Amino acid sequence: MTATNVGPLPGASRPVPFFIRPLRPLPDRPAFRAALFDFDGTLSLIRGGWQYVMIPMMVEVLRTETATTESDEQLEAVVTDFVVRLTGRQTIYQMIQLAEEVKRRGGRPRDPLEYKRMYHDRLLERIRHRLEGLRNGTISVEEMTLPGTFDFLRLLRDRGVTLYLASGTDLVYVQQEVDLLQLRPFFEPHIYGALDQYQLFSKRKVIQHILATERLSGEQLLGVGDGFVEIEEVAKVGGITVGVASDELCRGGLSEWKVTRLREAGANLIVPHYGAPEKLVAYLWNEPGARQLCTTNSTEPSC
Ligand SMILES: [Mg+2]
Repeated sequence: MTATNVGPLPGASRPVPFFIRPLRPLPDRPAFRAALFDFDGTLSLIRGGWQYVMIPMMVEVLRTETATTESDEQLEAVVTDFVVRLTGRQTIYQMIQLAEEVKRRGGRPRDPLEYKRMYHDRLLERIRHRLEGLRNGTISVEEMTLPGTFDFLRLLRDRGVTLYLASGTDLVYVQQEVDLLQLRPFFEPHIYGALDQYQLFSKRKVIQHILATERLSGEQLLGVGDGFVEIEEVAKVGGITVGVASDELCRGGLSEWKVTRLREAGANLIVPHYGAPEKLVAYLWNEPGARQLCTTNSTEPSC
């Protein structure tokens, strides 16, 4: 068993100490006014392992709804590729692609929304014990959030940063899980998620909304996320981005695979979690000495 998770799917890692891996320079005098957080894998671990539900379900659909002669391994490779590529966007886009793949193999696909419901029913089965545990107190909110989450949010808020949450998961579930994790006081009323009318929501739209309503320039926006989409979109408007390379099945673990993706997306820096929140905040605000704590080009935890 290795210390870090190197494949596209989470699992089999161990907790690592907090570190900051700098990738791109930060402004000398940062003036962050708003921060946009992703939810799953960035703050919440409730849905950890969702890939192990989505990918087998899609292989099953392609097997039973088409006459394909591809092996299960071949189908799994095709499915994993597009599921991973579309992670961070709304779930419906993965289901639209599934419908395309059914059609491509001569099948008659169902409505992508139907696939999405099927996926969600199965996922709920898998994570039900986590939701119930949070409800009845046998699982603590700390266990289902990344290390340091609450202190990091508190420190940002204390510095006058308005916190926003945007998730590719359906808004109705995001709202429930935000409450179960006791995160609402940090984000209310700025909580966004996927809608059945999926064209009405995107992370890009939320970013444009933040910049317009808060009257911010791009570099006043901080983006924090474990997925390609949120990092890329915040970077596009000139914002500063923290890539969170979390292992969603091992609280405090590191996904090297996410490190690679977040680097490609243009993250300014990578962290595995927020285990030393004061350090992270001092680093982001370029306080005296903070940046010297980190070495560049290091693949090992450096601070
Ligand atoms: Mg995420």
